[in-house]
Amino acid sequence: MNSKGLDIFHLIELLKVLQGMSKEERSDFYEYKCNYYQFFVKICLTGGCLAAIMYIISDRMLNGSFLPTLIPRFSLIIPCLLFWIVEDKVKNWRIQIILDYMLAHMIVLSTIWSVIHLEIKDHFSEGTITMHLIFLTLCLGGYWRACLCSYIVFYLELFISNHFIHYPNFDLIIALNIPCTFAIVFAQFMLSLAVLDQYMMTQKLAILSVTDDLTQVGNRTKLEEIINEKNVAIQMPASLVMLDIDYFKNVNDTYGHPMGDKVLAYLGKFLTQSVRREDFVIRYGGEEFLIIFPNCPVDDCYRIMDSIREKISTAKDRPVEFNISAGISEYEGDFEKSLRNADSALYTSKERGRNQVTLYSSI
Ligand code: GH3
Ligand code: MG
Ligand code: MG
Repeated sequence: MNSKGLDIFHLIELLKVLQGMSKEERSDFYEYKCNYYQFFVKICLTGGCLAAIMYIISDRMLNGSFLPTLIPRFSLIIPCLLFWIVEDKVKNWRIQIILDYMLAHMIVLSTIWSVIHLEIKDHFSEGTITMHLIFLTLCLGGYWRACLCSYIVFYLELFISNHFIHYPNFDLIIALNIPCTFAIVFAQFMLSLAVLDQYMMTQKLAILSVTDDLTQVGNRTKLEEIINEKNVAIQMPASLVMLDIDYFKNVNDTYGHPMGDKVLAYLGKFLTQSVRREDFVIRYGGEEFLIIFPNCPVDDCYRIMDSIREKISTAKDRPVEFNISAGISEYEGDFEKSLRNADSALYTSKERGRNQVTLYSSI
């Protein structure tokens, strides 16, 4: 991550990240991008509609009257209002992007409709160029494929309308628009990379906010998330483990606190590597860890935990020799109760001589 801002090297790095993303990761990123900027895009599009309506003033300069282009210009109010009503209800980000581009093309169509009623049609070339400003604002929420499709539609609109209107300077219109198109497609690409940088930073911060710095396992915030958030479904039957390092104070007293920290970091890594991806390892307090095993009956959990305990007590790569004790209870959704029971079982393990695992149901 680059705190100084974007430079060419950082952009190349971001490009590699974007290319290395799986289809799902890329879709997540574009969804984030769309949701984050959608309100901004909505406001800009509305501003674009208002600007297009205000061209009624320049129409009057060309026609000498407001009347001929009054309906084509003010007709934009309808799609704009519909957009405000529908856009709010749409939750799918891809459809949101389609709606954005649809409104942008309504501006193009209302402009073409107005040009039909203009006596001097030469200035349509300038009008088409201002459209690229609107396409530029859409780049923040959109993605390159949508941008490209939109430009194909844009040129179709120009060519088909020329067939009927016969613009006096059609070659010039195309010659002026093509460089703008390249510029906006390039801007789309660069803006995607810039937003990717912001997205990665947000992701990193989100992970940091629920991770314990020393042990790299979940922290108390993560635990709150697991037990309170509705969308973290813990599959039953589930087990809850309270785990504590035996005589850890002695480790600190004998080898010093930095060595105690190394033991904690070692245990965090050991636990993470020993459990499944769907299990939650949390540093509950100083040298106490809590593990939630979804979809795991307590008897299975006992076998897993006793094997972990055994492996730790004999591991060759431990910073210093140490053992753990653990207590296991059934987790049925009442976190406080399961925690109390697992704590009692842990207390029993300590009482019975440490370096052992106890099931709450067996005490
Ligand atoms: P028991 O077998 O009964 O659990 O004995 P114990 O010595 O492990 O228990 P106790 O709760 O008395 O001591 C826990 C120690 O953990 C005390 C505290 O200094 C140490 N500790 C807590 N957090 C950290 C930490 O982040 N780093 C280090 N190095 N030590 C810590
Ligand atoms: Mg303790
Ligand atoms: Mg202890």
